Amino acid sequence: MVNPLPLNQFISEQSGSSESLSSILNDIVSACKQISYLVNKGDLNQLLGDADSENIQGEVQKKLDIITHDIFVKALINNPAVAGLASEENDDIIPTQNQHDPKGKYLILFDPLDGSSNIDINMSVGSIFSILCCHNTNTLSETDFLQPGNQQIAAGFVLYGPSTMMILTTGRGVNAFTLSPDSGEFILTHPKITIAESTREFAINMSNQRFWEAPVQQYINECIQGSDGPREKDFNMRWIASLVAEVYRILTRGGVFLYPRDHHKSLSGRLRLMYEANPIAFLIHQAGGDSSTGREPILNIQPRELHQRVPLILGAQQEVQRLIKYHRSA
Ligand code: MG
Ligand code: MG
Repeated sequence: MVNPLPLNQFISEQSGSSESLSSILNDIVSACKQISYLVNKGDLNQLLGDADSENIQGEVQKKLDIITHDIFVKALINNPAVAGLASEENDDIIPTQNQHDPKGKYLILFDPLDGSSNIDINMSVGSIFSILCCHNTNTLSETDFLQPGNQQIAAGFVLYGPSTMMILTTGRGVNAFTLSPDSGEFILTHPKITIAESTREFAINMSNQRFWEAPVQQYINECIQGSDGPREKDFNMRWIASLVAEVYRILTRGGVFLYPRDHHKSLSGRLRLMYEANPIAFLIHQAGGDSSTGREPILNIQPRELHQRVPLILGAQQEVQRLIKYHRSA
């Protein structure tokens, strides 16, 4: 039986959040409901396709990248508990009216539309967010945001798939909520999600194989050898090319995801530490999984810059530990 607990009631009663953090989470929920509506309408609003701009990463922005960024900013900028915002789609931080008195207030980082290259082919996309506390007493600056992932107060993502779902942690486990088209509310449908320690399913972009480093080559080769190889079991491969969709699959039925360091273009990895890797790793750990760059735990990385990229390996604990071991011995 589905527990009919609405998300706003969960946030106020069970998340352990203060009143101010609850108000922020509710603002994020309202932004994501608006985005869900727009994503759902598809090209009826003629909002699909490219905008005439690039983001700081040099990627062509989709029209919806810009619109969803604006929705997030509008929803949060006047919240008295928010000191500043940072978005994957914006070069610099966005201070609020609290910027001269930021201590004890919250910093919100978000990727307003993850997997946006999937939007034109009607595949799942999402919004990812990460919440930090501001410790600075002076005027807000980018440095205030550069905290390792283990400092996050809350994190989550909304998946705009066949159903719209919010997956949330406030450091007390992971819960998932489904947006009811009837009531317009998110309802708790997947309480206390945990990830199985082992798996027979991996996700990686195989077209990059020739650029991978030795430990990843070894790991994937062993998976592909299946029951004839050292793993003595057959594996399946999945690749949706949408981080939120991959992570939701791993949260619900297990698996391991790799976007490893490789020799293609740069060695730094592809996913954003602060907008993607940190919030996702926080969720994965809260669900009993593990995450790493292969060389260090994601949540321990001291960020150097807002838009930093990292290699990302996450999912079933035993598989991530195996990958860390292969990296160590390489
Ligand atoms: Mg993204
Ligand atoms: Mg994005």
